[in-house]
Amino acid sequence: QVVTRFAPSPTGFLHIGGARTALFNWLYAKANSGKMVLRIEDTDRERSTDAAIDAILAGMEWMGLDYDGEAVSQYSRVERHREIVEQLLAEGKAYRCYCTPEELAEMRETARANKLPPRYDGRWRDRDPSEAPAGAKAAIRIKAPLEGKTTINDQVQGTVVIPNKDLDDMIIMRSDGNPTYNLAVVVDDHDMGITHIVRGDDHLTNAARQTLVYQAMDWDVPTMAHIPLIHGPDGAKLSKRHGALGVEAYRDMGYLPEAMRNYLVRLGWSHGDDEFFSTQQMIEWFDLSGIGKAAARFDFKKLENLNGQHMRNTDDSQLYDALIDVLPHLEDGKDMLNQLDDGKKKQIMLAMSGVKERAKTLLDLKAGLAFVFDQRPLNLEEKAAKLLTDDARALLRDIIPVFEGLTEWSLDSTDAAVRAFAEEKELKLGKVAQPLRAALTGRSTSPGIFDVLIVLGKEESIARLKDQCV
Ligand code: GLU
Repeated sequence: QVVTRFAPSPTGFLHIGGARTALFNWLYAKANSGKMVLRIEDTDRERSTDAAIDAILAGMEWMGLDYDGEAVSQYSRVERHREIVEQLLAEGKAYRCYCTPEELAEMRETARANKLPPRYDGRWRDRDPSEAPAGAKAAIRIKAPLEGKTTINDQVQGTVVIPNKDLDDMIIMRSDGNPTYNLAVVVDDHDMGITHIVRGDDHLTNAARQTLVYQAMDWDVPTMAHIPLIHGPDGAKLSKRHGALGVEAYRDMGYLPEAMRNYLVRLGWSHGDDEFFSTQQMIEWFDLSGIGKAAARFDFKKLENLNGQHMRNTDDSQLYDALIDVLPHLEDGKDMLNQLDDGKKKQIMLAMSGVKERAKTLLDLKAGLAFVFDQRPLNLEEKAAKLLTDDARALLRDIIPVFEGLTEWSLDSTDAAVRAFAEEKELKLGKVAQPLRAALTGRSTSPGIFDVLIVLGKEESIARLKDQCV
């Protein structure tokens, strides 16, 4: 059975790269009827915070990425990590190194002078610990093979070969007794039965070092897929301006989780020329072979367009729920929430299809629906105020009795009445619709004017018109 994992370090929010890694692991598990587990890599006690854990969990929940079983704290497994270190020591596959910080600094200096990567020279590899200065504390290092090569059969990067002479004897437990990251990851992945590791390609060198631990323990190496990182539209490292934000920022910008999943899956993975996916399709089609080798570029315009497409594809009541979910996070969202009652909900649902046609985000949707919530007398936007010239006001004054005389208030009846009125005044429909829109919504753009009349109802419509002209 396929078991994947998402292994975030809780040092900040769930950022967009992490969300994509989680999504790929989630999809691969779902596509193969497997499991995805969550491991919180909290061994860096200074930088790990509970707030970050909460933010990551909340981000995953919003993204709709669930995991199997309980989240596992890596730190809680420290005794198990130490046990493996002891085992490697006992088997002669690791050794105690008593180098002082000064000696290590000197080795780094020498390497730099020779333009070589920093490298531990193995001076304690075969030395007897009894030669250690009294009271000195040892770090534990793994005995890396001195010759040959380490090969990673990566599902994305292909066969990556690293000469063993480039891998020095890395520390697996520091002198303070803390196992290192590369040791802990391997022990956890093994114990948790991980079959597939999908993560950013910034971990490729770690993969080689981790492979040495697998080999020393005689454990199977999971299948690995190191995915290219996400870059900004200009090809440079993703910056905040370019989208390196926590997923809650995307929620607050009015994106739908469904659209985020669609956008993120396309950042690095493709299925022919398809751009628009339902989550069900992603699950059906996701495979590691569809992951590209080139860094993906983040593009807000694409995300926005996809989001608009998903909004139009979402039925009105689900969109209503999505709007309600985001309101508490928005500046004036609480005002809207406070006003929500059955009447308002009815009005929103009536207006929804007209508003969603032009909306790319939930914020657009909210703006398009704002006329429902505005209180009389409306504050007119500048453009709307300009539309209400003296002539326009005179026109509104004349149309009020027409509306008052309607016994039925429907799309058909208001449509017929406004058209007849325009004809009588020898005006194009737009010349009547514009001032109506300005007076009814306080804005120069809105859903279709007849929709607006129906959403507001007869009484409120007439009252708003009177506010502007009598
Ligand atoms: N905790 C690591 C990170 O957040 C992930 C390590 C891994 O996936 O193996 O970058």
